[in-house]
Amino acid sequence: MNSDPKLIKDSQELSHLICKIEDSGSVPCTCSLLRCEGWDTMSDSMWPQKQLIQLGTLRDARVDEPTFEEFQPTSLRADDPKALISVEHFPYNRCDVFACTKCNQAVMRYTEYGGYYIDHRARRVRAEQIIKGE
Ligand SMILES: [Zn+2]
Repeated sequence: MNSDPKLIKDSQELSHLICKIEDSGSVPCTCSLLRCEGWDTMSDSMWPQKQLIQLGTLRDARVDEPTFEEFQPTSLRADDPKALISVEHFPYNRCDVFACTKCNQAVMRYTEYGGYYIDHRARRVRAEQIIKGE
């Protein structure tokens, strides 16, 4: 049985996971992850569930309401594909982390809840974009 996804505790652990995926190489793939550069909307119908594995989650179930504060040490917008990743900050602190089993592209996804809608957002992730903590 699939139990709850493993909690990724910190940036070290996340970058370790993603480095491992990146090191395993990739084959050409046409999955829809190619189009989610920087927090693009990814509905369930676009989401290539079948060929993804979940690496874990950054959403700590023991925290009722993770912060909505953002952290971006560069002048880039948070949805810029080159924006850096701080796992303690929004929206990373509520993301699940996946990788495509074909192209080995790592991706994060979270769900934004509006008044009358829910919006799944995803962005591709590279290990070098993760801000390493202490
Ligand atoms: Zn792929």
